[in-house]
Amino acid sequence: MSGNIFITDERIDGDDEGPLAGRTVAIKDNISTAGVRTTCGSAMLEEYVPPYDATVVSRLKDAGATIVGKTNMDEFGMGTTTETSAFGPTDNPAAPGHVPGGSSGGSAAAVAAGEADLALGSDTGGSIRCPAAFCGVVGIKPTYGLVSRYGLVAYGNSLEQIGPFANTVEDAAALLEVIAGEDDRDATTRASPAADEGYADAATGDVDGLRIGIPTELIEGAEEGVVETFEDAIADLEERGATTTEVSLPSIEHAVEAYYVIAMSEASSNLARFDGVRYGHSGGYDGNWNETFARARKEGFGDEVKRRILLGTYALSAGYHDKYYKKAQDARAWVKQDFDTALSDVDVLASPTMPVTPFELGESLEDPLQMYLADANTVPVNLADLPAISVPAGETDGLPVGLQLVGPAFGERTLIRAASALA
Ligand code: GLN
Repeated sequence: MSGNIFITDERIDGDDEGPLAGRTVAIKDNISTAGVRTTCGSAMLEEYVPPYDATVVSRLKDAGATIVGKTNMDEFGMGTTTETSAFGPTDNPAAPGHVPGGSSGGSAAAVAAGEADLALGSDTGGSIRCPAAFCGVVGIKPTYGLVSRYGLVAYGNSLEQIGPFANTVEDAAALLEVIAGEDDRDATTRASPAADEGYADAATGDVDGLRIGIPTELIEGAEEGVVETFEDAIADLEERGATTTEVSLPSIEHAVEAYYVIAMSEASSNLARFDGVRYGHSGGYDGNWNETFARARKEGFGDEVKRRILLGTYALSAGYHDKYYKKAQDARAWVKQDFDTALSDVDVLASPTMPVTPFELGESLEDPLQMYLADANTVPVNLADLPAISVPAGETDGLPVGLQLVGPAFGERTLIRAASALA
């Protein structure tokens, strides 16, 4: 297979019958598959083979899906381009020579290249929506708690959800229907009020009377070609009966800072288990445990992961905890409140998914701050625990542009209905 989409090519057959019988699914390599190695895109876990399936994987098998492989990703989900993978970059099938987005770049690329009908990714701060936008496919980030995280290797556990990729909104919704729902093994899962209704049948394309709010703050920072493509898609929805109003989310200017403090703090704690003894690459014991742990982590982790562990440890340390971590939590509460207020007057919020078009391969690796800022439109949604969908809006200069719709908690059916008018 081409383009370095998969880290591990392995076929895992599901049941003979079920709603996904005959469909192929690619799985991001931070989702555990029993007996099939799960690397998280890291040298640390190059040889790790989980002894159990993630809940979403069991549900896929029960639904009759055929898993076709484990996809490339930014190391432990940390990145926006899939270039921080220890297994090399993935090319973008929709824009060769460009990144597929990240961190679930391999999963989006698998669907865009036709290597799989469907795929699963995870979204901590945009890692489903960004690659969906960059590869010209559909991606859904579910409401926090809708999909079990059991068996997902944690990066920022208070922020992340597993979610689907597909070529159409209806197919993505059908996959969501299979993986959604409470799980005894993940106490953060909650029953959705829409649980009995399902999701696939919501893809009616009917937007007549839909009230769309457009947050000015999420348009201002975007590239011109991206904004034009976004506005064309919005005009299309208006022609079909949707109405639009401008709304404001004043807290948004603090979202990227708050997100990175929280995500890195959680990462520093979640990644403590990779020391070569409990989990991961071992450099061998040489008589001194401090040296042994340090060597395993030095050899096993890449630069971006190390940067985040250092910054996260600092933000949580005595003396700085109140100054950084607590402040970030306050900002998170403010962002959540802003979204709730905005969504009390409209049904959904719309923006470009990414303020930029896909970077050229190799272009952004040297400038982490620039990369963090590209997450401006996606991370606020994770801070607010809300659902969002990225749907192809068109192209500018031959490069795909995604339109993001954000809804109220457990408003997935509304998002699916609205987005299905476009794809
Ligand atoms: N780009 C963001 C980050 O690096 C989002 C990653 C994700 O959603 N896993 O943290």
